[in-house]
Amino acid sequence: MFDALTERLSKAFDSLTGRGILSEKDVDAALREIRVALLEADVALPVVKDFVTKVRERAIGEDVIKAVAPGQQVVKIVHDALVDLLGGPGEPEGLSLEGEPPVAILMAGLQGSGKTTTAAKLARRIQKTEKKKVLLASLDTRRPAAMEQLQQMAAQAEAGFLPIVPGQTAVEIARRAMNAGRLQGYDVVILDTAGRTSIDEELMAEAKAISDVARPRETLLVADALTGQDAVETARRFNERLPLTGLVLTRMDGDGRGGAALSMRHVTGLPVKFVGVSEKVDGLDVFDASRMAGRILGRGDIVSLVERAAEDVDKEKAERLARKMAKGKFDLEDMADQFAQMQKMGGLAGIMGFLPGMNKAAQGQMAAAGLDDRMLKRQGAIISSMTREERRKPDLLKASRKRRIAAGAGVEVQDVNRLLKMHRQMADMMKKVGKKGPKGLMGGLTP
Ligand code: GDP
Repeated sequence: MFDALTERLSKAFDSLTGRGILSEKDVDAALREIRVALLEADVALPVVKDFVTKVRERAIGEDVIKAVAPGQQVVKIVHDALVDLLGGPGEPEGLSLEGEPPVAILMAGLQGSGKTTTAAKLARRIQKTEKKKVLLASLDTRRPAAMEQLQQMAAQAEAGFLPIVPGQTAVEIARRAMNAGRLQGYDVVILDTAGRTSIDEELMAEAKAISDVARPRETLLVADALTGQDAVETARRFNERLPLTGLVLTRMDGDGRGGAALSMRHVTGLPVKFVGVSEKVDGLDVFDASRMAGRILGRGDIVSLVERAAEDVDKEKAERLARKMAKGKFDLEDMADQFAQMQKMGGLAGIMGFLPGMNKAAQGQMAAAGLDDRMLKRQGAIISSMTREERRKPDLLKASRKRRIAAGAGVEVQDVNRLLKMHRQMADMMKKVGKKGPKGLMGGLTP
């Protein structure tokens, strides 16, 4: 699922990343591609419109377009908007099973959606992860085969199963299940309601009556992710009649376009709680919006880098540096700060992809020039062997001082010279940056 979407989004991002400066036009062009990508993935039109508007609002902001790596910032904005769309950040929504046992969970959905399979998967999960005893009951009075299917799956899930008594109505079975649960010490009773081929009045009325008897803590709608917009429409209509608490999307292992998964939350306002990922009884995952967004974008590296940079940038130091740069000053203390900052951001390897214009060839050149993480550490050691005065006035560094510093850092004098040369280059660059903005920050850097 999502393969085609991931590929198209990736193309849209390619036009943004790797550039030093973005114009509003660039962002709009990328947004048009993102829009088409989402529509082709069968995401509902109102959802797409909302999504694109939100991303545009955030991405057109001054600080994004003028940031050091604007394209990467936009990728991060799209990522965050996707997380919002899928369910918001924070912990994935689990089930709420507190209360006087037995707590009931009602399963609803169209026939063939994977409802019965999901009921058994849930029973297994709750028993395994929450260490609670689960009883499964089939309320599908019209289809004996469905009852038998649940019985078999209950055995696979090693959960309890309410014996089948022919001739009872669904409401009677619900009542019997709750009683059995109480008497036999079950914590949770999962009620698998009848599936239909389409939503009808009778089905709805029956589900409502069962709900009144069992008073479920959770009423989960099971929907087949492969049916795309139909699944969204089904969810919307169920939600109008039954007090649903969450959704389960099945067949996320299939090669659908994924639009239903992306639209569900927005259209119904309900959280997707689980996703079915195989036919097996353990094929149920807790739905995690961040992880799903990461998978769809396939750009986890960029997203985590932008996050890390935002966390790590020491505002005060950055402001001090900016003031100095504006005056054309950049001393060895500033350089040490820059190295420390780079190391925090995952070293040079981490920072590479983050910088505009830093392609594979440039990376190779840097590595060949010995500009690697070991170098960063060594430079740090050299700078810390200097006195404060020397760091502020590098011109003081004549031969004898250099020898002392090299000995202190355990390096050769030529390493000290190399550092000073690099400092001069950086200082030159900083002067230009101070005047022109941060374009090409790492440009002509050679040790
Ligand atoms: P129900 O009619 O809604 O109860 O649907 P079933 O539980 O009988 O499921 C219908 C078919 O879908 C069965 O063959 C299941 O094995 C299959 N199925 C259910 N969930 C998943 C899933 O997450 N992935 C895959 N690949 N198959 C699933």
